[in-house]
This record gives sequence, structure tokens and C-alpha cells, in this order.
Amino acid sequence: MTNRVMPRIGILGAGQLALMLAQAGKTLNVDVVCAGQPGDCAERVAELISVDLEDAAAVGAFAASVDLVTIESENINADVLRGLKLYPNVRAVGIAQDRLLEKRFFQECGIDTAPFAPVDSLKDLEKAMDDTGLPAILKTRRMGYDGKGQARLKSRGDADGAWREIGGVPCILEGMVNFEAEVSLIAARGRLGQIVFYPLIENRHHEGILRRSIAPFLNRKLQSQAEEYLTVLLERLDYVGVLAVEFFVVDGALLANEMAPRVHNSGHWTIEGSVTSQFENHLRAIAGMELGTTESRATVMLNCIGSMPSERETAEFPELFRHDYGKEARPGRKVGHLTFPASATAAIAEWQRRLQY
Ligand code: AMP
Repeated sequence: MTNRVMPRIGILGAGQLALMLAQAGKTLNVDVVCAGQPGDCAERVAELISVDLEDAAAVGAFAASVDLVTIESENINADVLRGLKLYPNVRAVGIAQDRLLEKRFFQECGIDTAPFAPVDSLKDLEKAMDDTGLPAILKTRRMGYDGKGQARLKSRGDADGAWREIGGVPCILEGMVNFEAEVSLIAARGRLGQIVFYPLIENRHHEGILRRSIAPFLNRKLQSQAEEYLTVLLERLDYVGVLAVEFFVVDGALLANEMAPRVHNSGHWTIEGSVTSQFENHLRAIAGMELGTTESRATVMLNCIGSMPSERETAEFPELFRHDYGKEARPGRKVGHLTFPASATAAIAEWQRRLQY
């Protein structure tokens, strides 16, 4: 028994990532409080303080009421975050919330990416197509998630329409790569610099939204390459907490697509599949505790998009773990996920069919 006083951790946001962080907090005996709006899904398991996340004074007051502040989304106005003692730090979040800074940072760290060019006007877009080649994807620099804020260009004639579709905001144009797989690596770095990695995860997206994650993606060379890349990122950013990086596998090599300065959807399987989940390791990291082992077994996660299958439907499959975020059904919305040991092949095939993946 230790007499360690556990910190009170504040999360900016109260969605499903905050919900799962709060659940992990309960097993760690850490007090988690969320800043959000009444009715947000984390309210079911954690104390929720009503805070407008666009209001710097309100966020500052929330931060002052807790020992540590972390985030569940990088899409928080950087002006609101400035001056906060945040885990991970504000610089890391600022880079991750801007696709141009993020891609340039990957390059500075010696990490390859798809070809890209900044676009601030239709004229820039015309020129950027020469740099990236076609087909290409125009992505807003900020506030993009789940394939939102993106327009695809097949020919030069698509430029005008794509620029209008995106709303004429600062963007990057990215050359489309022909990937063999999409994978992610999740790591946690503690306050004293200890780093742990989960196995590479293979991700399947549809319409820009993650549908299925399978762990591990077994490839020794790519696992160690990805671990080297994340080590550079984590150390250069003096990062504390969980970091996820999504990669394309192209010609057997990794191209970084984006990083998330937080726990990540492709790591939800770690709740049942790993000795220490990504949520617990994030809390351990920011609270200055030793990180837990990431030893894992082969696991599959299927996202529930739009609506949640009923408990009656899932109860027929004893090997399945059902996570219902308690969110209202809405097309395109992540409302829950199902996790299976990879050995439950018949159940996985049946649920892929039912969820139409
Ligand atoms: P993102 O928001 O950047 O993660 O993009 C959403 C999804 O679009 C990715 O998971 C890929 O499936 C696809 N995508 C994005 N960028 C590219 C690219 N440069 N080449 C091919 N596919 C891409």
C-alpha cells in the first residue's frame, strides 16, 4: 500500500474518449472530471462541469479547479489552450491540429509522407496539382476529422469545384497514394521519458470513417520502423501521454498520414486486448505513474456507426464485448464499438456482415 495522493484529472471534452478515460480512471482510482455540456456521454461515468470550450476564461477556471488537464480532441481553439499546463503540451496539440504544420513536422523528423503542398487560394491549388500529381485530396488544414473537410480531385477541371466545396479555407493538397494497408501505432510516454508501444494496428476506413481495427498487424520491420518514428516525435515534442500516428503502407514502407495527440479510436481494442489499455496508460503517463505493460493478444474491433445494435442482438455472442457510448443514433456518428478476440472468427464475420463492412 502507498499513501500516494492521486491527482484530480480534468479532461477538456466529454465524448466517448473522455468516457473511456473516466472508466480507466475508476480502475486506477484516479479522480476524473470532464468539461463539456450536460448530456455529453462521459457524464454517465464521470463528474461533468458545464464549460464552453470556446471560452478561454471558462476553460482557465476549469483548469484551475483540477491538478492536471488533458484533452480528448485536438480540435480545440489554440487560443483557448495557450497558457494552460496541458498534457500533452500545447505545442504538440497545435502541430497536430494543423495538417500543414503536422506534415512539415513529420518531414523535419525524417518521416516520409505523401506528396503535399499548401493551398491558400485557387491559384495555389492549380500550382499544387503540379507538385502532388493527380488524383489528389484537398484537405482543410484545421478541424478535419472522419473524412470531413476533404474534397477529391481526379482531373485539373475538378479544382474549381473542390475549392468551392471546401469553402475556400486554408488547405493542403495531398497526392493520393495507392496503399497496401492503413496502419496506426499508439505509444505512451511518461513524465520521465519512459516509452511503451502497442503493436501496429491495421485499420479499414469507409467514407473517411474508421470501421475496423485488427491488432496486431504483424510485420517486424514496419513495427520497428514505426517505433523509431514515434520515438523521434515523442522526444522532440517532449510529449507526455498517449500519441497515435496513422500511416499508409506503400511499397512495403510507411508514409505518415496524421497524428492524434490523444487516445485513439484504433486503440479501443486495448481495453480487453492488452494488459494495460491505452486509456489507463494515458492517465498513468500524465499522472507521473509508471506505465503499464502493453502485452496484448490478437483482437478485432468493429465500430458501430449511425446506430447501436441492441443488447439482445449482441448477447447471442458471448465472446463479444459491447461498448455503447449512450449517444443518440445519427447517420455517420460513432455510437459504440464491438471488440472480439481474433479467434472468434465466426462471430467477427457475422458482425462484419451485419454492420456491412
Ligand atoms: P484523413 O482524415 O487524412 O485520415 O483521411 C481519411 C481517409 O482518407 C484515410 O484514412 C484514407 O483512407 C483516405 N486518404 C486520406 N489521404 C489519402 C492519401 N493521400 N492517399 C490515399 N488515401 C487517402
